[in-house]
Amino acid sequence: MDVVGHFINGKTVADSDRTQDVFNPATGVVQRQVALASKATVSQAIASAEAAFPAWRNTPPLKRARVMFNFKQLLEQNSERLIQLLTNEHGKVLDDARGELIRGIEVVEFACGAPQLLKGEHSKNVGPAIDSWSEYQPLGVVAGITPFNFPAMVPMWMFPIAIACGNTFVLKPSERDPSTPMLVAELLKQAGLPDGVFNLVNGDKEAVDTLLTDSRVQAISFVGSTPIAEYIYATGTSNGKRVQALGGAKNHAVLMPDADMDNAVNALMGAAYGSCGERCMAISVAVCVGNETGDSLIEKLKPQVEKLKVGNGTTAGNEMGPVITQAAQERIKGLIDSGIEQGAELVVDGRQLQVAGHENGFFIGGCLFDKVTHEMKIYQEEIFGPVLCVIRVDTMQQAMQLIDDHEFGNGTCIFTRDGEAARYFSDHIKVGMVGVNVPLPVPVAYHSFGGWKRSLFGDLGAHGPDALRFYTRRKTITQRWPSSGVREGRQFSFPS
Ligand code: NAD
Repeated sequence: MDVVGHFINGKTVADSDRTQDVFNPATGVVQRQVALASKATVSQAIASAEAAFPAWRNTPPLKRARVMFNFKQLLEQNSERLIQLLTNEHGKVLDDARGELIRGIEVVEFACGAPQLLKGEHSKNVGPAIDSWSEYQPLGVVAGITPFNFPAMVPMWMFPIAIACGNTFVLKPSERDPSTPMLVAELLKQAGLPDGVFNLVNGDKEAVDTLLTDSRVQAISFVGSTPIAEYIYATGTSNGKRVQALGGAKNHAVLMPDADMDNAVNALMGAAYGSCGERCMAISVAVCVGNETGDSLIEKLKPQVEKLKVGNGTTAGNEMGPVITQAAQERIKGLIDSGIEQGAELVVDGRQLQVAGHENGFFIGGCLFDKVTHEMKIYQEEIFGPVLCVIRVDTMQQAMQLIDDHEFGNGTCIFTRDGEAARYFSDHIKVGMVGVNVPLPVPVAYHSFGGWKRSLFGDLGAHGPDALRFYTRRKTITQRWPSSGVREGRQFSFPS
């Protein structure tokens, strides 16, 4: 059976002492294995990145950007291959995989602007014959640790910008869908990236802990679940590293009584059930203001959820594929059971769904809960599955209080025709990314992505201006050249 190895110093490296199965979630069949890197292999990847750093740091930003232009073209030329691999290991439908890839390419396009973005600031004559400027220098070796749900896009939130800024990179992608990042590594080499600038190690906690504690690694970008994000932030910062750790989410959509309900229902279908709910920006709670709003939403949503086309992501016309693993399927079903036990009303039950010809696939049909309350587990926890919870409140203030009280603060949105309400909501809500009649307010590549509260540990988000700050360090230089006739006197007061 094929074993996906590592990519170190421009070469594929096998290290198969420990391996893990990689499934096709639509069939439940093991298609290959992935190597789990030992400490020594991760150390080798860090050494390769460290050795490549001096030359890459001194490569003019324009030449670094040219590699990114080539890489973008290669991603586009290989897009069908990439999305097939992605769907085969993740399960999401091909169109969704294509959307993910495009979003990743947009970050590469942003990184192509590095020469302009790194220009710095200059001030002439800050004192007599003294000039001063600030420049943005790369950090050195930086690492990225990424989740299963966006195996193409989330790594591309990180390494294109890190590399364009002059850093060298070690990526530790998810061990559950490793083939797409591996192909991406090969494309980077084809694009002309010097060996060692980008390295990839597959692995689990052993690989991650090596990255977190090795003093040669200057910074860590992490995206994944909140408990691990918190661990990464605490361990990485206590080892002297700069860390950004993006965590889990529970994203609420508020439906006001004046909302265009047909539009809101269409928007919620995609936002709650797209990618089987395995998106950190998925809407998992619909908060209806007023009982009539709740009744109208359930009436319109129920038949749509029942009609969802669920099956293999590679089959055209399917809207939703399987979840990632059998363990995820069981965990989600367990949470649905807890919702029923705690008194929520399961309006659509997808637990028994069978997909003909795919009896061993990790499928769950769309589920819809009504009359959910805040103390229920299905409300408190991130389900990360195709389950939408409807909560009914009386006022917009109550809806906002509910959202503000939740531990997560990744994304939210409001559906309304009332500009004043929308403006108040977006101004005051304690969430990092807000949509107004936009269900998935995922910022474009030239803005930054990041939640609040326990959805982000650290100060800076992904891509956009935050990423430039994260992957560089400011240095401010103050300079005077002796000019004829000007003599320095002795001065003991603070320069002013
Ligand atoms: P995960 O936390 O299980 O894994 C993420 C990464 O951490 C993987 O590379 C994994 O190998 C590693 N890891 C797992 N357990 C570890 C441990 N004990 N010690 C060290 N490393 C460990 O997350 P996942 O299941 O792959 O992804 C889904 C989660 O990611 C969801 O919670 C989702 O909300 C979140 N997510 C967040 C964002 C965001 O931008 N905030 C984006 C995508 C996904």
